[in-house]
Amino acid sequence: MMMMTLNQKKRLSKINMNKEINLPLAEEHIERFYGKIKINKLTGCYIYLGCKDKDGYGIFRLYGKNIKAHRLAWVLENNQEIPKGLCVCHECDNPICCNPDHLFLATTQDNTKDRDNKGRNAYGERNSGAKLTEQQVLEILGVVKKNGNYRGLAVELAKIYKIHRSQMWTIINRHKWKHLVV
Ligand SMILES: [Zn+2]
Repeated sequence: MMMMTLNQKKRLSKINMNKEINLPLAEEHIERFYGKIKINKLTGCYIYLGCKDKDGYGIFRLYGKNIKAHRLAWVLENNQEIPKGLCVCHECDNPICCNPDHLFLATTQDNTKDRDNKGRNAYGERNSGAKLTEQQVLEILGVVKKNGNYRGLAVELAKIYKIHRSQMWTIINRHKWKHLVV
């Protein structure tokens, strides 16, 4: 076996095996990762075509470890590690999606709440977690009908109505308040 040079040793020591993803990530891995992604033009979701885990999350093999694909997508987009205690959640409810625009950070608590809100019992205004009135949601859906669901609309409307953009996204894409007709 060849002896390692000092530089090689230094580089190796920088790879802290306890960290999930070590930045900066070598170009070859970034290319390999994006090579596994196909865009769904209808939803804008970046569909990960590699392996999936039992929960439907994409799995990317990196330095002998299995990394969740959407977490890697977030790290690459933001060029930073995922802050401790936070998880990367999907606005689009599509665990295989790696579109950074569809991902947001939340505490695990938020995530559970979000999942509950998206559950079968969550039904518009009657859901105690609802921050908007039926009238406001009708307004929002009216805007979407008039202008079309363009990129960035959820973010704009979320600011106006002072709710999280992930919630706005679920309204605009008719995951919530499905019973309302405009
Ligand atoms: Zn998506």
